[in-house]
Amino acid sequence: MISFNPISIFMDSRRVTRGTPEMLAARQQERLNELVKFARANSRLYAEKYRGLPENITDVRLLPPVTKVELMEHFDDVITDPSVRKADVMKYISDLSNIGKSFMGKYMVWTTSGTTGTPGIFLEDKNWDAVITAVNVLRMGGEWYTGKVIRGMMKAGGNSASVFAGNGHFLGVTMLERQRSSNHSRGKRIRLVPVTLPIAEIVKQLNEFQPAMFAGYSSALGLLAQEQLEGRLNIHPSIVISSAEPLSDENRALIQQAFGVPPRNNYGCSEGGVMGYECNHSRMHINADWIIFEPVDANHDPVPVGQLSDRTLITNLANRVMPIIRYELGDRVTLLPEKCDCGITLPLIKVEGRTDEILRFKSPSGGLIPVLPLALWSVVKETPGVLRFQAIQTSPDELKIRLEAKHAEDNGSVWKRVYVNARDYLTQQGLDNVSILRAEEPPMRDPKSGKFRNVWAEKSAPRD
Ligand SMILES: [Zn+2]
Repeated sequence: MISFNPISIFMDSRRVTRGTPEMLAARQQERLNELVKFARANSRLYAEKYRGLPENITDVRLLPPVTKVELMEHFDDVITDPSVRKADVMKYISDLSNIGKSFMGKYMVWTTSGTTGTPGIFLEDKNWDAVITAVNVLRMGGEWYTGKVIRGMMKAGGNSASVFAGNGHFLGVTMLERQRSSNHSRGKRIRLVPVTLPIAEIVKQLNEFQPAMFAGYSSALGLLAQEQLEGRLNIHPSIVISSAEPLSDENRALIQQAFGVPPRNNYGCSEGGVMGYECNHSRMHINADWIIFEPVDANHDPVPVGQLSDRTLITNLANRVMPIIRYELGDRVTLLPEKCDCGITLPLIKVEGRTDEILRFKSPSGGLIPVLPLALWSVVKETPGVLRFQAIQTSPDELKIRLEAKHAEDNGSVWKRVYVNARDYLTQQGLDNVSILRAEEPPMRDPKSGKFRNVWAEKSAPRD
């Protein structure tokens, strides 16, 4: 039996971090076999899918993949706790004051849109929580919080600020709220700065709060690094953490130049939690002892090491309440063959950038105002009744929205709400001159890449 005791997880993770490939493979096989047995016994969906397969499964490739659509459509048959009902989870997430609070007193809930545009809801149990906590403290903590960083944080008062979307049960804000509520006195030093605020307001709040630890979406950090270089932002964090979007080389250099520290980067998603983290050599290692990571092509066939995949299958070896086994993620990754000079033996990967980009609209006074894709995304996505959408900048002062409502008959009323929310948001950014149009066509995948993008600018729109 796998022990989910925090101390044994911690000790074992420490051995595996710099262990042999055989140690890693043994963990994966044992944990997979136990997970599959549990899923077969407790989840109707997996019992049905795995009917006729051998009793012991130590090779993940013997199992059929699952998609988000499948898990969402059969939610109550996936969940292994019979007292959990999708209807109750939906009710719980519709109340934003529940962010960071546990569902039924024992599960964390995360929502996501991801690269397919289908909304997803994921439950995390205490096993997974214990694993994430131990692995993060040991691996990210061990690499990132050096003596110099800790001394700097103490000197700077220890405040921590995160620039995330706060208007939904997203991974970043949920983890932050939980941290804040777990310790009242420490909680006052942890602040969420909503990414949906105008940049000038974000800058003002950060200047007042003076965070020693500063985290956010990569695109937001890149923009704030520019604010710092131009003198409007004036903060001196000891550590800067980028998450939720891949960190481009441009943003990495900009952040280092602006704040004088190398950005720290992790890689996660609602389905797999924090799956990877960058070491002191700025290379991404994956927590392969708890997540089986398979780069695959469009037919789910394996892509060789060193080659860019079309998508990725992940298996979460810790979570039992909602088994995630060979689950399809849209992420394009390359598993790297080489060993890292840092001494950590966990596999290295390179993650391709998400395709959303910063929009730049012309303001009434003629200047360009940046709009962060994840901020606009969260505003539209959290509008009640929205199933899927795409926001496309078509000219310097025009935004077109493709919309699909959860129920087709509500299309008109959902559009009205989306329009009002997007209008308010743009006005708040100083962009009341931008027109918002509803596209005639529904949301669709990019015909060339096959990917579903949420927010982008057409070629004719202004760029940097
Ligand atoms: Zn390394």
